[in-house]
Amino acid sequence: MNASEACEVYNKLPEPHKLILRESARDSLLAKGFEEIGSSDTSNECFHLIMQEEHYEILGYKQCEDCKEWFEELPESGICEGCIDAGSICPACNGSGEGMYDGSTCRSCGGSGDEYHPNGRSRRGSRYDPDREPEEVDA
Ligand SMILES: [Zn+2]
Ligand SMILES: [Zn+2]
Repeated sequence: MNASEACEVYNKLPEPHKLILRESARDSLLAKGFEEIGSSDTSNECFHLIMQEEHYEILGYKQCEDCKEWFEELPESGICEGCIDAGSICPACNGSGEGMYDGSTCRSCGGSGDEYHPNGRSRRGSRYDPDREPEEVDA
């Protein structure tokens, strides 16, 4: 990414995000020993942060553990919708759905061969997940 692309990213940020980023850029300039920080210095530092992809963390974005893309919001699993839709070959059984012994079922994926869809895709809406603790109900 070059500075003009970073500038475009910056311009597309919602106003509150720009402010957070500018504040962080100012801190970063101060840390570098700048004394008089002009508005264009701050902007340039913002572009720099964007080029280094540091702005995601500053803005509290979350990174999908699968595709490594950044998102404003991610499901609790840490995997983005797109990756969940695409599915993932179960690493425990290599997608066969079979367990360690003949005739047994893989415990990681429940036999679907797809670790993101342990109950198969047809029942994707189901919240059943053998590994998940029962959800806590707010009092
Ligand atoms: Zn993803
Ligand atoms: Zn499996």
